[in-house]
Amino acid sequence: MWYMGHWLVVVAAVVVATVAALPANIPENLQPLIGHQVWEVSSERGEAVLWNLVTEGHIDVLDHSGTTRKFRVAGKDADKVAGTLRTANLTHSVIIRDLALFLKEEEGPVERRADISRSCTTTSCPVPSKDAYMTFKEIEYYLKHIGNNNPRVELRSLGKSHEGRDIWLVHIKPVTSKRVGARIAFSHMRKRAIWIEGGIHARERISPAVTLLLIDHFLNDFPQDKPFDIYIVPMANPDGYVYTWTNDRLWRKNRRNNAGSCEGVDLNRNWDAHWGVGASTQTCSEVYRGPSPFSEPETKVLSEEMTRLNNQLNFDLVLSIHNYGQVLLYPYGWTTNPAPHTEDMKKKGNVFLKAAKAHAGTVYTMVNTAGGFYYAAGATDDWAKEKLGTRYVYTLELRDKGRYGFTLPANQILSTATEVWQGLDMMINAIAPEKTARPN
Ligand SMILES: [Zn+2]
Repeated sequence: MWYMGHWLVVVAAVVVATVAALPANIPENLQPLIGHQVWEVSSERGEAVLWNLVTEGHIDVLDHSGTTRKFRVAGKDADKVAGTLRTANLTHSVIIRDLALFLKEEEGPVERRADISRSCTTTSCPVPSKDAYMTFKEIEYYLKHIGNNNPRVELRSLGKSHEGRDIWLVHIKPVTSKRVGARIAFSHMRKRAIWIEGGIHARERISPAVTLLLIDHFLNDFPQDKPFDIYIVPMANPDGYVYTWTNDRLWRKNRRNNAGSCEGVDLNRNWDAHWGVGASTQTCSEVYRGPSPFSEPETKVLSEEMTRLNNQLNFDLVLSIHNYGQVLLYPYGWTTNPAPHTEDMKKKGNVFLKAAKAHAGTVYTMVNTAGGFYYAAGATDDWAKEKLGTRYVYTLELRDKGRYGFTLPANQILSTATEVWQGLDMMINAIAPEKTARPN
């Protein structure tokens, strides 16, 4: 979320000064946020009350750790939410008075493109941008570029989203040195693989940005004698992502048409693993689970491909990348009972934390998913752990801890990506010598 402090004073002044010209000055994708506020309550007694408001679709909780909870309230829901909090004896403070103005005046300019990216033109993109968020079109230009030009890359569309956009999978083949080839030939082991998913939540732009730079890193810098096939989905929710550029910067779900009601399904609550736990049946909720498990084309094609691959090879690591909070989460999300290989996951997680911190001092913490704000099931991580039996499964919440939240400035893309690949390289180095969990 966004920090208040002295910004509140600035924003209050801006509200007074610009109220008459409001709609014309607000970019289109911030207009749905006019009149939305950010409130804060103490988390100690507030959890159950907030959870009910989330599932009913009245609030959008923005951070899931620490001693307070910040959440977004639309103008139309403000009285209802205030009443509910009052009844529960909870006091709230207003952190941001108008989110549209706040993002426009304070956060928008640092995130906006401002033509700083020189790596993409209107028709091509040979390398991912390190200092600007890429449009979906630019992402596709880059993926097609490496698909056509790099012999180690196999680019495939797994299928189409609701609105007909491709869900792209990048397969990076290992460099088969003699040593690795021999290891595979004589060990009678399945091929080993890593799966990385980005962009399943539309507004978390730093996730695809980092995921794309990971592809570039694995192709160019990663020590190439590792025995892993790497599979990367940089944009799991293209419709939602495009919608954040055109209509609503804070859109989270996909773009399912829920027949006259609020649109979208939370794709990270739609997987067939304890579907419904920690999710909502209400279409207007930010954590709406969808009409049935894998009802959405996006989750359906991802899970089918992961299942198909998992029958042929062994996934050593499945990683889903989100923001924000700087947290490495390990499953389960549906229960606090420990998942298989919990100690292993914690050990390798610590390797990641240590290496990530060494780059720019960014501190990531590690927690169990269900130990956070609320249970969250039907997500990529629980499904991979339970249905695929993958040993190392994580959800990574990238920068920051709340100052910018979903609108992390674009000048932090490269540094965020660097700490992630340094953490991942060390984690993969630590996993590589292990025996795979599933021999042939
Ligand atoms: Zn997310």
